[in-house]
Amino acid sequence: MKKILVTGALGQIGSELITTLRDQYGDDNVIGTDIRSSEDDTCIFETCDVTDGKALCETAKKHNVDTIMHLAALLSAKAEAIPQKAWELNMGGLVNALEVARELDLQFFTPSSIGAFGPQTPKQDTPQDTIMRPTTMYGVNKVAGELLCDYYYHRFGVDTRGIRYPGLISYKTLPGGGTTDYAVEIYYEAVKNNRYTSYIGANTYMDMMYMPDALKAIIQLMEADPDKLVHRNAFNISSISAAPEDFGEAIRKYIPEFNLSYDVDPVRQKIAESWPDSIDSSAAKEEWGFEPEYDIDSMTSDMLEKIKEKYV
Ligand code: NAD
Repeated sequence: MKKILVTGALGQIGSELITTLRDQYGDDNVIGTDIRSSEDDTCIFETCDVTDGKALCETAKKHNVDTIMHLAALLSAKAEAIPQKAWELNMGGLVNALEVARELDLQFFTPSSIGAFGPQTPKQDTPQDTIMRPTTMYGVNKVAGELLCDYYYHRFGVDTRGIRYPGLISYKTLPGGGTTDYAVEIYYEAVKNNRYTSYIGANTYMDMMYMPDALKAIIQLMEADPDKLVHRNAFNISSISAAPEDFGEAIRKYIPEFNLSYDVDPVRQKIAESWPDSIDSSAAKEEWGFEPEYDIDSMTSDMLEKIKEKYV
C-alpha cells in the first residue's frame, strides 16, 4: 500500500488528484500539503512551503510516506510576470522535493509541460526526444527540472517519474495562471453568458487534455513496471490538439447561440506560438499503456453539464 505526500495540493491538479488518490489508496494514505491552508478538515492536510526543504522533509517523515508527488509551482503566464520568483519556487521547490525523496528513499513524481518546448521544436507530432530551447522562464524551469529528475535517477537511484502535461481542462478548481487557461474559461462563460472573448488568437493550436485522463495517467505511470520505462521522466501525453474556434464549434453543439470573439493578449499569444501544435504520445502508449478516454466532444459535453450543475 502506498502512502503519498502531495505538494501544491490545493491547485488545479492537486485538488482533484488528492480525491482520486484517496479513493484509490484510502484517506489515511494521502497527505495533502500546500503553502495555503485548507478549509476541508476531513482529510489529512499540512501547511508547508516547498522552498523550506527542512519543513518539507519533517512533514514527509512525520507521516512516514513512501511517495512524493510534487505539484507546487508557478505556471507559465504568472512565471513570465515574475521570473525571478518563478526560478526560486520552480527550481528551489523541485530540488528540495528531490532531496526529500533521496534522503527518505521515496518514489517521486512531478509534472513537466508542453511549455518545455520552444520555437525551434517541430510543431506537428512533436517527438518525445527533440530539440528543446524554450523562450519562457517556465519553459527553462521545466527543461531544467526534467534533466534534474533524470539526474536524481541516474546519480542517486531515486525512482523519479514524470509527464509533460498539455493544458489541462477541469471544472472543479480554476486554473492557476497558465497560457491554456482560456480553454477552461470558455466553458464557464458559455454557461453563464453564452459568449467568450479569447485572449488567444484564432488558428493557434495547442495540446489539451481533460482532467480525468490526466489523473489516470499519473496513477498508471507510478504503478508501471520500471523495467518497461525507457524514458521515466517527461513523457509526452496529449489527447486533443485544438484552437479556440474548435472549442467554439464543440460548444455550439450544445449552446447554438454561443458567440466567440477575440481580444488577443500579446504576452500569452507569444508563449502559445512558441509551443507545439500537437505532440506525439507514442512513447507513453508503448512504455506504460497511456490511453486517454476523452476527445473534445465528450469533454465538452461533460464540462458543460458539470458547470451547469454548479452554477445554474
Ligand atoms: P496551480 O497554480 O493550480 O497550483 C499550484 C499550487 O501550488 C497552489 O495551490 C499554490 O498555493 C501552491 N504553492 C505555491 N507556492 C507554494 C510553495 N512555496 N509551497 C507550497 N505550495 C505552493 O498549478 P497546477 O495547474 O495544479 O499545476 C501543478 C503542476 O502541474 C505544476 O508543476 C505545473 O507546472 C504542472 N502543469 C500544469 C498544467 C495545467 O494545465 N494545469 C499543465 C502542464 C503542467
